[in-house]
Amino acid sequence: MKLENKVAIVTGGSGGIGQALCDRLAREGAKIVINYRSHPDEAQKVKQEIEQIGSEALIVRADLSKVREINNLVEEGINYFGKVDILVNNAGLEKRADFWDVTEEDYDLVLNVNLKAVFFSTQAVVRHFRETNNPGRIINISSVHEELPFPHFTAYCASKGGVKMITRNLAVELGSMGITINNVAPGAIATPINEKLLNNPEQLKKVTQNIPLGRLGEPEDVAGLVAFLASDEARYITGSTFYVDGGLLWNYQEQ
Ligand code: NAD
Repeated sequence: MKLENKVAIVTGGSGGIGQALCDRLAREGAKIVINYRSHPDEAQKVKQEIEQIGSEALIVRADLSKVREINNLVEEGINYFGKVDILVNNAGLEKRADFWDVTEEDYDLVLNVNLKAVFFSTQAVVRHFRETNNPGRIINISSVHEELPFPHFTAYCASKGGVKMITRNLAVELGSMGITINNVAPGAIATPINEKLLNNPEQLKKVTQNIPLGRLGEPEDVAGLVAFLASDEARYITGSTFYVDGGLLWNYQEQ
């Protein structure tokens, strides 16, 4: 197993991609801190799955738009398992609106969860990595939209573009400690964030036609790469973005 004796925090771990990440990291032997914000029942289900696999899990509620709650999440994980080795910044959200209608409230929410929380969660674990002399791993679940425009989702794109630069910057700043940081950037994955798309067959067909591999991704398609990046085998990989998008990003075609 790739992650035996490792402890991983997965933010937004109670559903969607986060759930698959908890499951996969646990299968590789890691103990998991499952963060959730609003679905304790779903977090409990993920914990049970992890225990069935034969690993251990701790559930911690934290609203990641608040730095105090982020610090508490990391502290609880360290207190319970004695250490943390891996942080997966997975939690995120998007709000659709024409640019001229975006409210300050929605802008703040998207930027706080998708960008500010990545910054401060990473800061909290890096402080722990330094204190314990641990060359830990940070993996951010970014998006193809750290690169690709997405009209009507400008705040989302700005947040993911910001995550791209956090990763590049910290790869340089933290490299001397052996700490690695990378982005995994999904394309269109079948999760609750895409609920409207999944319930609209016509739009779904259009999106699928743009994906060279001809289907939406599954959360498990993302999880294998994250497990690899969290492992010792990935020790020389830092500051990079890895796309998991079925070829979507590069599918320019003349009509
Ligand atoms: P999802 O909506 O199923 O999961 C998002 C998770 O983030 C949820 O568990 C939610 O509770 C959590 N979250 C939101 N706000 C939070 C807060 N304030 N505090 C704590 N947790 C909070 O969607 P998903 O597809 O699983 O998304 C996971 C990540 O993948 C996100 O960062 C998203 O931007 C990214 N992503 C998803 C897709 C896709 O097509 N599904 C594509 C590209 C990137």
